Amino acid sequence: MNKRNCPVCDSTEAVVIMRFTPELLSRVAPPYRLEEFKIEEFKNIIKGKEEFLTYSKCRNCGMVYCEYIWDDDTLRKAYVDSIDHAQNKDGILLIHKRMSLARIWTNILRTLKLLGKEKLEDLKIIDFGCGWGDFLDTVEGYGVNAVGYDLDSDKTELATKRGQRIVGDIDELKSFGPVDVVVMLSVLEHLQDVKYSLNLVKELLKRGGLFVFSVMDYRSIYIRRNVNRLKNNLPTLTRNLNPVFHVNIYDYKSVMRTIKNYNFDFVSSDCVLSLTDFYKMRNSMWPVRFFNWVEWLSTKVIVWAELGITAYVVNKE
Ligand SMILES: [Zn+2]
Repeated sequence: MNKRNCPVCDSTEAVVIMRFTPELLSRVAPPYRLEEFKIEEFKNIIKGKEEFLTYSKCRNCGMVYCEYIWDDDTLRKAYVDSIDHAQNKDGILLIHKRMSLARIWTNILRTLKLLGKEKLEDLKIIDFGCGWGDFLDTVEGYGVNAVGYDLDSDKTELATKRGQRIVGDIDELKSFGPVDVVVMLSVLEHLQDVKYSLNLVKELLKRGGLFVFSVMDYRSIYIRRNVNRLKNNLPTLTRNLNPVFHVNIYDYKSVMRTIKNYNFDFVSSDCVLSLTDFYKMRNSMWPVRFFNWVEWLSTKVIVWAELGITAYVVNKE
């Protein structure tokens, strides 16, 4: 059984802090049965690898991550067979999702201006992990030259059909660079090999180029509440705690450490809202829905449901 080192500090010393079983996952996470996640398929796919369903905490830096290395076949099956892609695709039609992408684009423009850029003249952008291409749609326009990259060809096909330029392999991506902006939205959580991808980002960026990435925040009240619920065998209200799809769980500390390790300069950060979960609750059963509403409202009142962090950092080299 292969284990991996801490994705932030490379330490080998970690201790298991959360353990899931497929049954527990199924029982404690009713939202899974109500949205695009197909729990029965998922259980079949990970059969025999149940002990992989854990989160560990790095003894050195406190990063929470999945220590076990999933084989490519299991991962591919989990992504392809246990997620309902039609429902997932419908998610990009949500207005709040478009609003959050528009906000990120506005922040990018504001940051570029702060860094001394006055005009959008052949502004080169790479959307790494572009999915269905909704961010590429957001930035489209005169003066912007954006390409997307994603391993999931089902998703990129939709982007290509809409006229977005999708790059099929890393070499082609490198030949498109160096670029002004690399965007990685909700991607770092999924990567088993963070080091490879972040070194690639460095290679793709110009000196002084902007790197924008978003991750969920382990220390946000929203996630902490769900961790506590898991400990007490109560239903979680998020699908973000899943050690197959989300193998790295960052917080402000590990985000800042990563920025420093890869020699980026921190510019600003913004929060990611958890509205997706709320929108999906509309389809749930009435008692669950009432319960979810109370929970949802309390997280809103306390922290306006901050779920994650979007960081804007500059490449120093
Ligand atoms: Zn560590």
